Amino acid sequence: MLEISFTRLVEQLKTLGVRSGGVLLVHTSFRAVGPVTGGPLGLLAALRAVLGNEGTLVMPTMTDGERVFDPRITPTSGMGVTAETFWRQPGVARSTHPGGSFAAAGPLAERICRPQPLSPPHGEDSPVGRVHELAGQVLLLGVSHSENTTLHLAEAIARVPYSVSHSCVVEIDGTATTVMIAETDHCCVRFRLADDWLRARGLQREGSVGHAVARLCDARDVVSVAVERLMVEPLIFLCPTRARCAECAAARASVPT
Ligand SMILES: [Zn+2]
Repeated sequence: MLEISFTRLVEQLKTLGVRSGGVLLVHTSFRAVGPVTGGPLGLLAALRAVLGNEGTLVMPTMTDGERVFDPRITPTSGMGVTAETFWRQPGVARSTHPGGSFAAAGPLAERICRPQPLSPPHGEDSPVGRVHELAGQVLLLGVSHSENTTLHLAEAIARVPYSVSHSCVVEIDGTATTVMIAETDHCCVRFRLADDWLRARGLQREGSVGHAVARLCDARDVVSVAVERLMVEPLIFLCPTRARCAECAAARASVPT
């Protein structure tokens, strides 16, 4: 496959509509984007070039919660090589949630990464909540809305009735202790409904970045269309019972009767 140059990546990101000077939350599968010149570092350089010095780049750096989280050393879990490369770069801030951390670079990085409550990990007072507050954009690069954490923010704002707790190791008074953290967890496959909701209103830009299909939308649009649906059908993001999805069944079982 053809290697995509830095210049071409920058062009593609601009054409898609990434705003210079804005806040940009990126979820990415590098395998879908590449090959690009410079690998993941080349992709990061292109994203930061389009954002410029006034812009702030944000990526999820979530971890497995199986050991005490140290934002300076704990590797990400399932976030992809681009995010894993990003947080290790000089001058990149990383938030301190033991399972749901994010990394950010740019003038608003410290604000986005400041401390937050343990639960919910992706509520209004969290990195995704701050991206939303700051009217940031969400870029899905070679991934679908299943990976769009901002939809968990919509669930928190809509106060969905399901909540599942997962164990997470945290340090309390110098001792590693397992705590349970409640979150709106499920398989997230039905987050893909957001494609049609956003497209129907012309709120999603789609194009190519590298070799990947890219989707770009405003965090506020993602939240507003999802909250509107959740108000009518609070369980819309859970697989139907007949689908026999264990994760969504656990979420359904948590709904108070
Ligand atoms: Zn499911």
